[in-house]
Amino acid sequence: MHKNNEMLVILKNVMNDLYARDTSNKIKAVKQSTFKSGKYVGCYAPLGYKKSADDKHVLEIDPVTAPVVRHIFDLRLQGNGFRKIAIQLNTEGVPAPRTFYYMAEGKENPRGETPYWNDVTVKTILRNEVYIGHMVQNKTGTVSYKNHKQVSKPKEDWIKVENTHEPIISQETWDAVQRMDNHPSRSRTGKSGTIALFGGLLRCMDCGSSFRFVRDYRTKRKASEYRAYACNRFMSGGKIACSSHYINEKALVSVVLTDIRNKAFFAQQSREALKERILAKKESVNAERANTLKAELSALDKRLAELEKLIQAAYEDKVMGRIPESVCIQLLNKYEAERTEKLEHKKDISAKLATSRANEQSVDDWLDMIQDYTQLEELDRPTLVRLIQKIEVGEKYQVNDHMERDINIYYNFVGFVEL
Ligand SMILES: [Zn+2]
Repeated sequence: MHKNNEMLVILKNVMNDLYARDTSNKIKAVKQSTFKSGKYVGCYAPLGYKKSADDKHVLEIDPVTAPVVRHIFDLRLQGNGFRKIAIQLNTEGVPAPRTFYYMAEGKENPRGETPYWNDVTVKTILRNEVYIGHMVQNKTGTVSYKNHKQVSKPKEDWIKVENTHEPIISQETWDAVQRMDNHPSRSRTGKSGTIALFGGLLRCMDCGSSFRFVRDYRTKRKASEYRAYACNRFMSGGKIACSSHYINEKALVSVVLTDIRNKAFFAQQSREALKERILAKKESVNAERANTLKAELSALDKRLAELEKLIQAAYEDKVMGRIPESVCIQLLNKYEAERTEKLEHKKDISAKLATSRANEQSVDDWLDMIQDYTQLEELDRPTLVRLIQKIEVGEKYQVNDHMERDINIYYNFVGFVEL
């Protein structure tokens, strides 16, 4: 329509003005808007993906390399460190990411880049959200238009667009792997440097604090047999902060082993009933979350309608000569900026709503995993980290003539499971 055309001309002039300032800024702006649209910009597709033949800005799963990515996440879930995973991949003869690229292109590796995996390449893959379907770009940049050295940019400058392509890794696997990153450093068993069996996995039921590994000094026996844990907040802040929640490692192992074996038994004997129960619980949690998101969405729609009216009004005022052109442009810019921001937010929420629907696959994955553990006799760190997300430990309390305590075990993929 005539009016809309005129508005577009005004907007276009403003944009041209901005872009004309200098070429460097212009290229930057174009690049940024490409990032914001979720299009892939880069020489090589990340390992596990290939650029689509129809559109080189779109990523597709590469059936050749995607299994390598899944293998790496799996090795991590089993509790292996970055370096250990790299060594394993090299032992298996898996080519490093760049080598895969040259192989696919049928080229020689020109700069003689190393064909081997190392801890950094492994870590980079395990932290790349591209594998759960999100595009994160603008991670590096040049120092200035004179200096072309590539530097890493701070995280707040990264541009992330969610759900731009098919994920290789499930959200649950991703979450479990990211949680592992937070575990080890805090919970070493002192001088030896090895990680305590339950390091990073225990939470205080009363104050939410993590637990600290402690030696049981109440006994003079060999220290290695007397490992224990206590609430970190109590350990550093004393009785006023929390109570000790002291728990012996052996006691904890026996509780956890029993729980795993019970769940495994149930998964084998009455898989469908257990699945129904977990899904029912997941859905009620999801329904609550979905309601919040829906309310947010309707508020956004309301504001978007208002903005469209405001834009129309500003533009009518200009046509009728009620406001000068410069004021009109200012208003249009302001409204348009808010409209763009709201539209992006809307896209975000809609995507979240889609993923919040119950994930049957993750429950199946858990059942497949847990059912192998009916005969589990010994608990080691890889098994523990593979199966368990966290364990909440309550304080002891008196019941008639004996003491009791609550221990809630949260599993990876499914959380707390009641039998
Ligand atoms: Zn506590």
